Amino acid sequence: MNLASLVRDIPDFPEPGIVFKDITPVLADHEAFGELIAALADAYRQLPIDKVAGIEARGFTLAAPVALQLGAGFVPLRKPGKLPWTTINQAYNLEYGTDALEMHVDGIGAGEQVLIVDDVIATGGTAAAAVNLIERVGGKIAGLAVFIELGFLNGRAAIDGVPFHALIRYD
Ligand code: AMP
Repeated sequence: MNLASLVRDIPDFPEPGIVFKDITPVLADHEAFGELIAALADAYRQLPIDKVAGIEARGFTLAAPVALQLGAGFVPLRKPGKLPWTTINQAYNLEYGTDALEMHVDGIGAGEQVLIVDDVIATGGTAAAAVNLIERVGGKIAGLAVFIELGFLNGRAAIDGVPFHALIRYD
């Protein structure tokens, strides 16, 4: 199945100049959704992944089913103020503004192997913040798996040294 054909480009969302990659048509198609999740998990099936960390909010929709496929737990990385327990916080820049990610301090244990999953990597600021949060609590980054890479923004440079898989790359 051609997953790329189901990704919808939304010009000027959420602000002028941004072409938003809308993955909801993929999620809405049972066969496409299943293929996407299997493809994201594929590179990590032979690795001892303990946790899959998903980035709010679209990352959750992909990371949770990937975690189940890999026999791993799911850990949410959320926008500030959303998590109920004690958190650590990491600020970052993104394509359209600045933000921060938070994680429960006990979400990931020292030495655990963690796969980070998100829908899109743009500048890489969000992914770098996720890497930072996980490493601060002693987690080991097994990799970053994304559906879509906006190659022209060179997000890979922000996560230099982290094993990286993208299913679709736009240049
Ligand atoms: P960045 O930190 O610049 O790599 O931005 C990645 C985060 O912002 C991801 O969580 C994406 O969901 C979101 N994002 C950034 N740019 C886009 C885009 N053009 N289309 C869809 N999501 C985007």
